[in-house]
Amino acid sequence: MSTKGPDETHSLGKLVGSLLVPGDVVAITGELGAGKTTFIKGLAEGTGVSDFVSSPSFVIINEYSGKIPFFHVDLYRLNDLSEIEDIAIEEYFERKGIVAIEWAEKLKSLLPGKHIKIDIEATNESERKFIFTEIGIKRLKGKLG
Ligand code: ADP
Ligand code: MG
Repeated sequence: MSTKGPDETHSLGKLVGSLLVPGDVVAITGELGAGKTTFIKGLAEGTGVSDFVSSPSFVIINEYSGKIPFFHVDLYRLNDLSEIEDIAIEEYFERKGIVAIEWAEKLKSLLPGKHIKIDIEATNESERKFIFTEIGIKRLKGKLG
C-alpha cells in the first residue's frame, strides 16, 4: 500500500487507529522523513486523541488521553541498549493503552511478542510505501483495502 503526500499518510494512520484495541503496540520503522510522526498523528486521532503534538526534542515518551490512553514513543535519540532499557517500556505495554513507537527496530528483543509492525519507505519525494506485518494479532487483515 502506498500514499501520495502527508495528508494521505495521516488518513491511513487514522483508519489504522480506528481498528486498534487497548493494549495494542504499533512498531514503526523508516528513515528520517519517512512519515512516522505524520502516520502516528493520524493513528492517535483514529483512537480518539484530539490534542496530539509532535514531541519536543527532549521527550522520549508522550502520553495523550482520549477514549483510551495513547503513548507516543520516539527512540530517535536513544542508541545505547542501557539507555533504551532505562525507559522501562515494558511498563507502558501493561497500561492498556495504545503504544506507537518510532525507530522500533532499536527495541530489538524488548518488543512484545504481539504487535503490529509497520515499515515505511520513501519511494520518491511525495510517495511512501507501507508494509504491514501483524505478529500474533489480527486487527488489520482485509480491512485496509
Ligand atoms: P519521520 O517521523 O519518519 O521522521 P515525519 O512524519 O516527521 O517523518 O516527516 C515526513 C516528511 O515527509 C514531512 O516533511 C512530509 O511533508 C513529507 N512527506 C512527503 N510525502 C509524504 C507522504 N506520502 N507521507 C508522509 N510524509 C510525506
Ligand atoms: Mg518522527
